Amino acid sequence: MSITTTPTAAATTARTGRVPALSARIGAVRSSVIRDLLALTERPQVISFAGGLPAPELFDLEGARASFDAVLRAGGRRSLQYSTTEGDRRLRAGIAQRYTARGLATEADDILVTTGSQQGLSLLSTVLVDPGDVVLVESPSYLAALQCFALAGARLVAVPSDERGIDTDALAALAERLRPKLLYVVPTFQNPTGRSLSAQNRRAVAAAAEQHGFRVLEDDPYTELRYSGEPLPTIASLAAPGQVVSTGSFSKILAPGLRLGWVRSDPALRAGLVVAKQAADLHTSTVDQAAAAHYLEAGRLDAAIARSRGAYRLRRDALMAGLASALPPGSTWNAPDGGMFVWASLPHGWDTTRLLAVALQHDVAFVPGASFFPSDPPPNAMRLSFTTYEPDRILEGTDRLAAAVAAAAG
Ligand code: PMP
Repeated sequence: MSITTTPTAAATTARTGRVPALSARIGAVRSSVIRDLLALTERPQVISFAGGLPAPELFDLEGARASFDAVLRAGGRRSLQYSTTEGDRRLRAGIAQRYTARGLATEADDILVTTGSQQGLSLLSTVLVDPGDVVLVESPSYLAALQCFALAGARLVAVPSDERGIDTDALAALAERLRPKLLYVVPTFQNPTGRSLSAQNRRAVAAAAEQHGFRVLEDDPYTELRYSGEPLPTIASLAAPGQVVSTGSFSKILAPGLRLGWVRSDPALRAGLVVAKQAADLHTSTVDQAAAAHYLEAGRLDAAIARSRGAYRLRRDALMAGLASALPPGSTWNAPDGGMFVWASLPHGWDTTRLLAVALQHDVAFVPGASFFPSDPPPNAMRLSFTTYEPDRILEGTDRLAAAVAAAAG
């Protein structure tokens, strides 16, 4: 009698299969140091200035529940069905209205809803970048955007920046020499530095793009989190139509777990993005979009943003105060008008990657600045996020950081 058996899972994994290697593309791009680091800082006793997480106690649970209830009751089965790739029309109208109110006339049709603005960056890389194309990026910059361009085969070229943001003279010189296709810039409360580009320099970026024929990708997820100073114009409002493509997000103003973002673009680019999005995920969650549209129409978002602004302003001020006694003499750091991040530079000779190892022994964390540079990383910078904890806990964190600095110095 012969018995046929299906192999058990153990037997299957015990066999060594012969499979092709991963694509050269994925092998060439490094994993995000920050996402890897988040795992380390998840121990509950660690006060982490590393993650850049919005404060969970500020999430408007009640408002979110009311909106999900409403769409499941009224929209019923439609809100659980497949839907269009472009996104929920009411949500697109709500996003467009917010741009228009900020001085950039926008229609619902100008908007493509994406699964987080991260997907917008990924789709734009697919649609705009051919292997070998030059993409100019601020240095330092948001690493996960650089990953998108690298996966598309871009040649990333760093444009230096200082406390005023990207160096617009260097930008013009590089554009003249390299004929880039794209410039990636986070002009307001940048990740990782918290810096903002002045109105004058925004005009210079728009002018350089027109003169040298490259597109600007204006990634602006932090702009509504302003705690002081005057709002700045979008680069898109200062440039010729189609010269600038913008990405935005509900992650920092509503909730990142919703994974709702958008791309504002011209029609020809949007047609390409729609094809790329069809290939990526067909469309963003129907029910999440409907709930967000309901939340906007209920007029809750502005109140939620005002609450976040009030709380984050105090947290920024606490970190500013705490850093003064935590970092070694001779360190410098900025006082951002908004966003989530402070950028600090320690005196020559300090290595913040080494300091992080000591800091983790003291149950405090930050991100070493080197992680954010496409090339030539300086060893002595760090990014600190101030949004996650209340002021008292922030000050406890800076006390621990002071102890780590003293231990590392001694
Ligand atoms: N752009 C920047 C500059 C960011 O900092 C982030 C997230 N931290 C994103 C885009 C992506 O955010 P999300 O996908 O949550 O919208």
